Amino acid sequence: MSHASRRTALRALVREAGLDALLVTDLVNVRYLTGFTGSNAALLLHADGDARTRFGTDGRYLTQSAAEVPDLVPVIERATARALIGRAAALDVAALGFESDAVTVEEHRALVDAAEGVTLERAPGLVQQLRVVKDDTEIDALRRACAIADAALADLIAAGGIREGRTERDVALDLEERMRRLGAQAPAFESIVAAGANSAIPHHSPTGAQLRRGDLVKLDFGALVDGYHSDMTRTFVLGPPADWQRELYDLVARSQAAGRAAVLPGTQVSDVDKASRSVIADAGRGEQFLHGLGHGVGLQIHEAPALSASGRGALAEGMAVTVEPGVYLEGRGGVRIEDTLVVLAGAAEPITLTTRELVEL
Ligand code: ZN
Ligand code: ZN
Repeated sequence: MSHASRRTALRALVREAGLDALLVTDLVNVRYLTGFTGSNAALLLHADGDARTRFGTDGRYLTQSAAEVPDLVPVIERATARALIGRAAALDVAALGFESDAVTVEEHRALVDAAEGVTLERAPGLVQQLRVVKDDTEIDALRRACAIADAALADLIAAGGIREGRTERDVALDLEERMRRLGAQAPAFESIVAAGANSAIPHHSPTGAQLRRGDLVKLDFGALVDGYHSDMTRTFVLGPPADWQRELYDLVARSQAAGRAAVLPGTQVSDVDKASRSVIADAGRGEQFLHGLGHGVGLQIHEAPALSASGRGALAEGMAVTVEPGVYLEGRGGVRIEDTLVVLAGAAEPITLTTRELVEL
């Protein structure tokens, strides 16, 4: 699906909302609709079509925007959103929607000042409604991001990179460098490497703590490819697992399998959470599962839909979501297993493929 066809799909929502145009200022949404990857841009998406749609950026991006967005009329000015609003009335825009979920109070004031002859209307979440279902280009980028993460982890293990005496930070840096060498633009987020008691902290930042024999070692990381994020967690044990470690691992693995099996089009996101969480709750460890089950993933590492008890709405074919239950025993250690999956009819397809068996290193 091209950027132009995404703009066409958005026009239906803009018209449905009773708007003549939508001012898109969220950079991720601008990228989704135009392909532009720079740090300053806005889009005045006219409901009539591309001929009256304007793309705004500043002089630093003159060359880049001509290459990335060859199909829209550019407006080159530093204050992009104001410059586009100033042109709206001349493009026969009366009702102009803006992304009220993406502007600060100060930015809103500036928009109101610039909106002469135009009525500004709050229009949150319109682009996100489209982004939640991925097209083939996006699924392909997600697959490549996941494949790099899988390959980097396999290389790290083969090189003996997760071993006694190394620090959490050593392991994180090594993993991130391997992802970059395999083609990632960057890590998808700050990699989590958490050993021993630190593995019981869901979002632990890697420290100088050394890995020791008998530790659970939890790695949560991903690669960024063409703007798309992969997300995977695996938990290993250094040496033979103790009974409590194996029990914990098996419990989380069963919960994760139940969660994956529940990822189907039409299923309420809260029911997916429940399918996975109930396995842990039935084992008396519900209190030690400290977070939601998962989240959508795409141009952002965390995006809609939220797979949680309070999440609303149902899954649909083409969504990309994570399933990541965890159980955390404070002061001892924790286990999380996370995959990125594509929602398909019949069964979800995991696109992170590293084994989910307990691996002794
Ligand atoms: Zn993760
Ligand atoms: Zn995640």
